[in-house]
Amino acid sequence: MSSDKIKMKMRNAKLGKKQSSEHIEKRINRLKGKKRKPFSEETKEKMRLAAKNKQKMECEYCHIILVPYNYSKYHGEKCKLK
Ligand SMILES: [Zn+2]
Repeated sequence: MSSDKIKMKMRNAKLGKKQSSEHIEKRINRLKGKKRKPFSEETKEKMRLAAKNKQKMECEYCHIILVPYNYSKYHGEKCKLK
């Protein structure tokens, strides 16, 4: 094994380590500073609808994630891999 490869290995081992507590604290403080106003009921309703429209389905035969329109047209009971 070349020394470069060993260096790379050591670097990767370091990268896999958890962040220091100081680092984590800094991040928490930054997140705390970004407080958002609570959403209004109207906004919540809009978000619910948007999430509903974006709903995806997974074909149980080929495990592709699709919108319901394509799922019922080409997958599920009509899947090629069935
Ligand atoms: Zn399928």
